[in-house]
Amino acid sequence: MLSEVNVESIGGGPGDAAHTSWLELSAGALRHNVEVFRVLEGRDGTSPPLGVVLKGNAYGHGLAQVLPLVHGLVDILYFIAPQDALKVREHERAQGLSPRQVVVLGAVAPHEAVVLAREGVEVVVPDRGWEDAVPVLRAAKLERPLRVHVHIDTGLGREGFTLEQIPRETQFLVDARDVLEVVGALSHFANTEDVTEQGYALAQVDAFETGLRLLEGQLGQGRLQRHIAASAATLVLPRARYEAQRVGISLYGLWPSAETRLSARLVLGEVPVLKPVLSWRCRSQVVKWLPADSYVGYGCTYRTSEPTRIAVLPVGYYDGYPRLASGKAHVLVNGRRCAVLGRVMMNHLIVDVTRATHDERPVTATLMGRDGDESVSAEALAGWAQTLHYEIVARLGTHLRRVVVE
Ligand SMILES: *Cc1c(COP(=O)(O)O)cnc(C)c1O
Repeated sequence: MLSEVNVESIGGGPGDAAHTSWLELSAGALRHNVEVFRVLEGRDGTSPPLGVVLKGNAYGHGLAQVLPLVHGLVDILYFIAPQDALKVREHERAQGLSPRQVVVLGAVAPHEAVVLAREGVEVVVPDRGWEDAVPVLRAAKLERPLRVHVHIDTGLGREGFTLEQIPRETQFLVDARDVLEVVGALSHFANTEDVTEQGYALAQVDAFETGLRLLEGQLGQGRLQRHIAASAATLVLPRARYEAQRVGISLYGLWPSAETRLSARLVLGEVPVLKPVLSWRCRSQVVKWLPADSYVGYGCTYRTSEPTRIAVLPVGYYDGYPRLASGKAHVLVNGRRCAVLGRVMMNHLIVDVTRATHDERPVTATLMGRDGDESVSAEALAGWAQTLHYEIVARLGTHLRRVVVE
């Protein structure tokens, strides 16, 4: 018992630095971002159901923290992994909440499909491989069929039936009605973020509608729930706002891209304000002076030109701080930019705090987020690391402590 308490008090878990660096999640920013999407009108002028994507540990923000914040604010929750989707049902049971529509977008094994059917979680059928699940679902003697959405590949070249494959390859869905109930159809855009010209996306919308007509004809049933728009299309392509949206990155207050932001000005008349939900902060481990001409970090890639006060931060690429940002990034201390000196290490980062603090007492650094008048965006960190902000947040260590703030 005593040892458990001690482990807990120093952070617990597998993290090397779980107690020294932490993520702050702004509940207010999250609510604000939901509201930005709530006011967008659907194709028929009404406000369509809002779905949010919580894959990748809620884009690295922390599913355990984000789920309770968004559950009551949105209509649909999308995941990649079945086990994450089941956490919604656990949460609802524990809190006595009514169940939300939950959809697993990713790969599902037949035995997982049985569990999801029993929990009322919906899945996506991306190809004929799902035929293998049919006998398993039949043997499970389900009370109600598994609710499925058919993925139509309209030009991403990833999951889904191509137009050439419908209706030939989708016939098994008609024959498996006793265990698979088709309730929706979806597709995913290939190129809405990197362009301001939406020709390819509109061709995908046309292909989606062709695929839908073929499917609806084959299934001979009522209207399917249609969804194709992720954050970018929801913002800048009104034609893509069908019965549901799948908003991922922008729920967390990040623009899919600079191009999307530009397009939003044109399409919506003004650029909506998205508020980043996440800040990443760290308490220094050591603050000290180094004389002029001292090397800093592995490889001796940085040498001080003058006496320099450094702060050693106990955070590194293990935690998700990209090593490629070495020598380029800065963090914020007391509202001032502090250059990252030398290489980012597995568990350490060294920054120049000469002008940011007056003595050698510990400091709190902001690796991402706002401090005073300055901020470091996920996009900036991604830029230094030659990658995408999506990757920066998704790779934040699951071991990091996450705290919800207002
Ligand atoms: C990740 C994903 C989304 C969300 O995309 P964002 O650009 O983050 O909004 C939507 N749909 C599918 C199928 C996805 O994989």
